Parts: sequence; C-alpha cells; structure tokens
Amino acid sequence: MGLSASFASSILLIMPATSSNKSYRVGRSKTGLGLFATKPIKKGTRIIRYHGPILDSRIPEQDDIENKYLFELNGRWTIDGSVRKNLARYINHSCRPNAESDVRPRERKVFIRAIKNIEPGDEINYDYGTDYFKAYLKPIGCKCESCEKKRKKLRAEARADRAKVKARTERKAKKAGAKSPNNKGAKKKKLNGYAVAKRNGRARA
Ligand SMILES: [Zn+2]
Repeated sequence: MGLSASFASSILLIMPATSSNKSYRVGRSKTGLGLFATKPIKKGTRIIRYHGPILDSRIPEQDDIENKYLFELNGRWTIDGSVRKNLARYINHSCRPNAESDVRPRERKVFIRAIKNIEPGDEINYDYGTDYFKAYLKPIGCKCESCEKKRKKLRAEARADRAKVKARTERKAKKAGAKSPNNKGAKKKKLNGYAVAKRNGRARA
C-alpha cells in the first residue's frame, strides 16, 4: 500500500500545474490580456468567482479607494478585484458577451457564469454595465468584437459611398470632356508629352 501511495503522490508531482479542474487560462487578447476557455463550458455553468477585499463605503479610507476593478455589490459594499489572485479581473468587457456576472450582495460574492455554450479557445466576456461603459469605454471606443464588427461595417459602407461619388464625378467629367471641342485631337497616346504610335511602343534593346 505504501508503495502505491508514494507512486500516486509522485504522479501528482509530475502533473503540470495547468491540468487542474479549471476551465480557463489567462492569455493574450486583442486589447491586452484576457481569460480564455480551456475546456467546453456549458451554458449556465459558474466559471470563476470575482473576488477580493470587501470595501465598506461607510469607512472613508475604503470609500476613497479607486481603480477600475471595483465591483459594486450594493450601495454599501464593493469588491476590490485589483488583487493578483483574482483571475476574473482579466475577463474583458463585451457588448455581446458569452457570460454574465451573478451578483450576490447578501453573500458578498460575485460569480461569472456562462450564458452561452463556450468552446475551448473562446475568450470569456461579460457586460461590465452602463456605468463602466460610460466612464471607461465610451471615451476610447469599445474594442469588443461586436463593436469592432459594427465599426468595420460602417467603414466599408463609407468606403462604398466614397467609391460611388468618385465614379459619378468621373462619369460627369468624361461626359463634359467628350463634349469639349479642345479634346478632338487628343486621341493619340502620349508619353512624357510626346505622342507615340503603338508600333513604336515596343522596347528596342
Ligand atoms: Zn462593445
């Protein structure tokens, strides 16, 4: 028995730290770091807890703390999620997220829960809410996939409009040019100001 026990513990020792039962990892996202699924996560599953020291707004020193990882539970209690061990702080905002925050003020806890089936490799997102959006995202422009897509579409539409205007202007210019009597002799091709016949256009080496 002693042998198998030590065998079991040596197996535990050689297992890499990533093979835990966690279904996420911190990784590179478009805007910096993000949290990514490493396993399929079913809709409705609790993924991770958003945690950190609980701040009491009635204590002035605690009420004065300010960072972008504060998660307000209610009028009095706020979680300071800026601590290192709170990996949930890496989860980025999305306007069309695959997870949500499950806020439990009485327990003073917040869980991030899947609202869609999430595939391995997918970035995990939740909607940070209107206050955060107005304070931090609106001024710089939201970089979430949904907003990027919208911007891309708008840019493409603007490009198409410009192309249309350009084509119309060119058509008009051509028409005006065709009517102009000064253009009658301008049928020959010109190179550097000299009229060249097509036959002589070949290179003579
Ligand atoms: Zn967005």
